[in-house]
Parts: sequence; C-alpha cells; structure tokens
Amino acid sequence: MKNALRSLMFMGLAVLLFSSAFVMDRTEVVSVAKSAGRAAWLTSLGFDLLAEHDGRIFLVASPEDLARLADLRLPFRDETARLRAGHPAEPAPAGGINGDYHSYRELEAELTALAQNYPSLAKLSTIGRSLEGRNLYALKVSDNAALDEQEPAFLVVGCHHAREWISVEVPLLFARHLLEEYARNGEVQDIVNRGEIWVVPLLNPDGLEYSIHVYRYWRKNRRLNADGSFGIDLNRNYGYKWGYDDVGSSGTPASEVYRGTAPFSEPETDACQRFFRQHDFRALVSYHSYSQIILYPWGYIDAPTDKDAALAEMARTMAELMRPVNGRLYDFDRAAVGLYTTNGDTTDWAYAESGIPAFTIELPPVDILHGGFFNKETDILPLFRENLPALLFLAQTAFAAPSQESGNERDERTAAPPRRGGDRGKD
Ligand SMILES: [Zn+2]
Repeated sequence: MKNALRSLMFMGLAVLLFSSAFVMDRTEVVSVAKSAGRAAWLTSLGFDLLAEHDGRIFLVASPEDLARLADLRLPFRDETARLRAGHPAEPAPAGGINGDYHSYRELEAELTALAQNYPSLAKLSTIGRSLEGRNLYALKVSDNAALDEQEPAFLVVGCHHAREWISVEVPLLFARHLLEEYARNGEVQDIVNRGEIWVVPLLNPDGLEYSIHVYRYWRKNRRLNADGSFGIDLNRNYGYKWGYDDVGSSGTPASEVYRGTAPFSEPETDACQRFFRQHDFRALVSYHSYSQIILYPWGYIDAPTDKDAALAEMARTMAELMRPVNGRLYDFDRAAVGLYTTNGDTTDWAYAESGIPAFTIELPPVDILHGGFFNKETDILPLFRENLPALLFLAQTAFAAPSQESGNERDERTAAPPRRGGDRGKD
C-alpha cells in the first residue's frame, strides 16, 4: 500500500513535470541560412529577427514560431546554448528574474531615495503615465533643483525598448554619480551648477515589467492593437518623418517595429515630447542596447543633417573618451548608415525639433554572439563607468556658451573605428 501510494505519487509528479515542460514558454534563439530576400521575407511573416552573422539570420522563436519554421520546411539551428555560453541568459534569480537590474518599483524606490537624500540637488517628478498607468519618472539634477532657474538642460533617457534592461541602469547611475560626487568633484559641481540634467531612465515601464515577468524578449509597449496583437515600438512613434517608409518602421501591428496608428499615439512618447518642449534642452542621449555604437541623425534616410560634421566630431570625441575606461571601442555613425534605417525615432525628432545634438547610444555588447540583450550583472557598473566621460562631455558642451568653439587640435592617432557590416541587431 505504502509502495503503491509512493509510485502513484511518483507518477503524479512525473505527469506534472512532463506537462509543465510543454506548457513552459521555451523561447529559443535559432538561426537559419541567409539568402537573398530571406530576412525581409521572415520579417514580413512576423518573425523577430535579431541579427545577421556569418551568413546566417538569427531570430527569437517561440514554440509557435518553431512550429511555423518547420511548416515552412526551413531548416534551423538552435543557437540558444551557444549564445549563453559564458553569458548567462538570465541574471541570478535572487531577488527576482531581474537580479540587480531595476524593476519599475525598485527604480521608483531608488529615485525617491535619491531625491530625499539630496533635496537641494535633486527633484523627482513625473512627466506622464504609461498606458497601464505607471509613472514616467524624471529626476532633475541641478543646484537649487526645486527652483526653475531657466538654465540650459541635458536629457538622458532610457528604456524605450523593454528588453534592453541595461538602458535603465546607465542613466540611473549617471544621476546617482552626479549627486554623490557633487560635494567633492569640481567638474561635477560645475556642470550641476550651470545647467539642469534630466534623467528619464524608464520610458517604457509596462514593457519592462512584461519583460521581467512574462517574456524576456519583449520590446514594445503593451498597447492592445486592433488586430489583437500587442505593442507599439515607441522608438518608431515620434512625429518626425513618422511612417516615412515601411523599411524603417512597419504598419503591421504584430511587427516588432510597428509604428502605431499616428505620431505620438502612445502616452509614453507623447509625454516625452511635451516634457521636451517645456525645457531648454541643448543635448539628448537616448540609451538602447545592443551594438556598441553611437548614432546621430538622420535615421530615416541615408543623408547627412546640416550639422553632420559637428555631430560626427562629437561622437568621435565621445568614443575616444570612452575607450580608455575599459578598452572598449564604440563605433559611431549616422543612424541610417549600417544595416537599416529607422523612422519615427527619438533622435531624428529631437534634432528636427530643436537642432540639438541628439545621440542614440547602443550599449555593448557588439553583437548577439557576445550576449545580445543579456548584459551580465557584473557589467552594469563598468558599462556606466565607460559612458560617464561621454555624458560629462555632452553636459559640458550643452551648458557652454553657445558661441564657444573649441580650437584644440585633436590628436588624430585614434583613427575612426572600422564600420561594422551587417551585424547590428534590432535595438
Ligand atoms: Zn532599443
């Protein structure tokens, strides 16, 4: 009887394990051979393409996607294990799946604490609310932070794309650094005294929560579209050249780069544009991952802006300032030069609106084989540290007198880094 019960329990457990293995969301990264037009064809079928590398196309595939690939008789290779080698796909489970990365609530607590600990230098406000009602936080760092001193401003924004967790951390650490260093660091003091640094670390809180709790690869916001699919790509929803073509964004709701039904249709991007117009922003950085590259407008078309040389020079300076910190070389280029164009993104809009230097910084790694969207927890601080000199440089530039022009001869020994071809992810 005892044995019978035990074997019954064992069978029950086995059934439970067996069924849960099938219920489990086993999303994999797979690759298929590249051929002419195949990437565009897969995109048109709604597959989530990550990168092209070594003659293969890498994509995220849910169990349903894997079945579809089989139906299409398209041989695929499971790359998940290979990608995870040495690069833990999921941060340590302690404290939740997000580990050291901030969830919405954890970020809220940290921003609140910073504002409380540095009342004269920091002020926390909300610029609006997400679709699901979460606050879109902005932390202002400035001397006399509570007063509106009509100073020039610098905006650092993170996490338009939910799965790019590292893009929350770098802006947050930048704000924390300014506050902690103010009392003892003359350079920080000068910047904070002369201008306003506004940090919006999490523009897509609904997406981030979904990425943490449901589906790690989630990219868009959580809009329920008319066709039953979810999400609008917030970095294709801005108002300049919105929907310029179907290459740089998509009109198909299920697409990972769906631009939405109208410019600024989403509360997140709409809040960002309203906030932007309320202040005298002189520079902007929008953080994303991955690719390890500094991008500047235009993104919607392969053509230079009227400040192309100046933007290229600033990007070069940033890359040169960043390199010595950890030895990592960030590529830099006009956004459209490379694998693909983007329309309706943050930086094209900010530049068109105000003519200010506006950069998208795609944080490391360089490609999916080095971890893609999964930055190790131990990389958070080093990645912030290497971005710090670039951010300080931009703040100094933004807050300098408008007519000031550097007459320094730049050391040209550091040549422009070689352009990477065809290896950028969709970030
Ligand atoms: Zn992104």
